[in-house]
Amino acid sequence: MQMYDIIEKKKNKLCLSKEEINFFVNEYTNGYIPDYQMSALLMAIVLNGMNDEEITNLTLAMAKTGDQLDLSKVNGKTVDKHSTGGVGDKTTLIVAPIVACLNCKVAKMSGKSLGYTGGTIDKLESIKGFKTTLTEEQFIKQVNDINIAIISQTVNIAPADKKIYTLRDATATVESIPLIASSIMSKKIASGSKNLVIDVKVGNGAFMKDLKQAQELALKMVNIGKMVNLTTVAILTNMNSPLGNNIGNSLEVMEAMLVLQNKGPEDLKTISIALATYMNALTNDISLELSKQQVLKVIQNGQAYNKFLEFVKYQGGQLTFKQPQYKYQILSKKEGYITAMNTQNIGKISSLLGSGRKNKEDTIDYASGIVINKKTGDYVKKNTLLATLYSCIKEDLNLLEDSYLDTLTFSNNKPIIEPLIFNIIN
Ligand code: URA
Repeated sequence: MQMYDIIEKKKNKLCLSKEEINFFVNEYTNGYIPDYQMSALLMAIVLNGMNDEEITNLTLAMAKTGDQLDLSKVNGKTVDKHSTGGVGDKTTLIVAPIVACLNCKVAKMSGKSLGYTGGTIDKLESIKGFKTTLTEEQFIKQVNDINIAIISQTVNIAPADKKIYTLRDATATVESIPLIASSIMSKKIASGSKNLVIDVKVGNGAFMKDLKQAQELALKMVNIGKMVNLTTVAILTNMNSPLGNNIGNSLEVMEAMLVLQNKGPEDLKTISIALATYMNALTNDISLELSKQQVLKVIQNGQAYNKFLEFVKYQGGQLTFKQPQYKYQILSKKEGYITAMNTQNIGKISSLLGSGRKNKEDTIDYASGIVINKKTGDYVKKNTLLATLYSCIKEDLNLLEDSYLDTLTFSNNKPIIEPLIFNIIN
């Protein structure tokens, strides 16, 4: 088999066989196919697409290149959750303890932040002493003991995806539904859970800006799940403004704790309840109505919050946070309704304050970030507090004020408020 022929076939809009897909995935991962040939094939896939069978074969081929997490020693039904990435998205910290109270086993591997979106592992590492690396044995024991463990990717999950994603990033081939769907699902399949809820973020702070494309991506992922016996539901949620009010690692943990105590911002609460409801319904095979009642009950009676405390303690954490050194309040210079927020740029500002990293090696300042006081739909007068920036670097704070103000659009007319949840695909 020759890589040249595979590229030529996709260039001519033909379907690739399972053997051809296995060949290029394995040979590229093992270093026998050069980047220039793989780049040419990826561009042909971006331009000419793949059918469902090709996408499933690609997903499975990538999933098999590394370790498969064996969750067969977990006593009970496992559930995983994935977010395609957004700004202020701390829902994993909320939904995992909720469903862990409802007999769902959350054995979750999460990632670190890169770029303008946050990562669950960084948020957890902002908790003093919290250990995000456990041996497989410790991980399984913890899930069996308390129904929940969240760790960073220690085992070698889908190395083909890691290598191909790096190349896609450098060759303008990230934006392809077959490539994104197979990339996400290969990692989820290798992570071993039997049920999966995917939060597909849609909007100006998300990877998918367009609802139609996001629906197509969601459908592909749900279909891949069906073909490999991984029960999958995708929830398309709004990312045209940050989720909740806090952005930045410890700020987000504190906000997640509020929601677990039945407080906190309504948008974050609504989306968390929806995600937890689907996770519980899928895993325990119950109706959505009953599932939602159970979710609300464990929030209201304090069980979910106590589960979060138990989980943090089990992984060595103590709920004390480093305090930010400097803070800077941003007051409005205009009067009117906020009609739009450039969410991606808000995420970038938080990252510049120290909460994110540009390169994998960068260190982050857990205390830095943004607390937002006014969001889309709010009416503000001049000098109203819009947001507070937190950082350990004093110099940048006033420079970032203008950048933050530039993210907001004002009008005299009240905007139409968009739904928080656009669609559910199962
Ligand atoms: N997230 C992934 O894991 N893969 C992609 O291709 C895009 C987003």
